[in-house]
Amino acid sequence: MKLTLKHPLEQFVISQPFGNVLMQDGINVYQTQLGDIGHPGIDMVGTTGQPFYAAHDGVVIAVEQDGRGGIGVVLRTENTFDFDGQELYAKTLYWHAQTGSIVVKTGDKVTAGQHLGNCDSTGVRIGQILAKDSHLHFGLIPSKFNPGAPPGYGAYYEAFDYNNGYHGCVDPAPYFEAPLNNAISPPGYPTLAEQAVVQAKEILQGITKSAEPVSIKQEFLDELLKVVELIKNLL
Ligand SMILES: [Zn+2]
Repeated sequence: MKLTLKHPLEQFVISQPFGNVLMQDGINVYQTQLGDIGHPGIDMVGTTGQPFYAAHDGVVIAVEQDGRGGIGVVLRTENTFDFDGQELYAKTLYWHAQTGSIVVKTGDKVTAGQHLGNCDSTGVRIGQILAKDSHLHFGLIPSKFNPGAPPGYGAYYEAFDYNNGYHGCVDPAPYFEAPLNNAISPPGYPTLAEQAVVQAKEILQGITKSAEPVSIKQEFLDELLKVVELIKNLL
């Protein structure tokens, strides 16, 4: 059976997808700060204090502060799911929570949609623009049972492929039962469609401001194609 996830927030905007690479002075910030080749989860911007919810049924295996001052919850499924032909447990991470907001404790059984805590921006945030705001870092780690595994987030359930460049995390996006693009934005944040329109306008303005005489030329057609691509990605 394939894992299906519910959205952990009712309203959100994705500020960073899984695998996003952020370069500063020619250096991959994720590589230097986390040892990952890119962003190891999905950042969902919400408002401060906005509740976040369990994405699946399972058990709470950790409620704690990480070494970077972030507060979070880790869940594990009690059943295995098919991950590319491997029967594995799923661990999900919910990070940057508000201090004192976590309403579950280690060992609690939870059901999909159950309130876990509230959003904030605790700990170290890596990323651009919206990452400074309250957001939920949502991570997914397909995991195997190993009775000899060292204690940690969910002792005995360790990442199936720890050396995949993301410490075993994989892109959660394909597992959501509702597409992420259709999410409602929190108040005050542009929707993905609005963001695309702004981008499209910038591209078109760039063309019309050009000193070149306006004629149908290849460059113009290429730019129009980019606009079409932006819109296509929303459908
Ligand atoms: Zn993140």
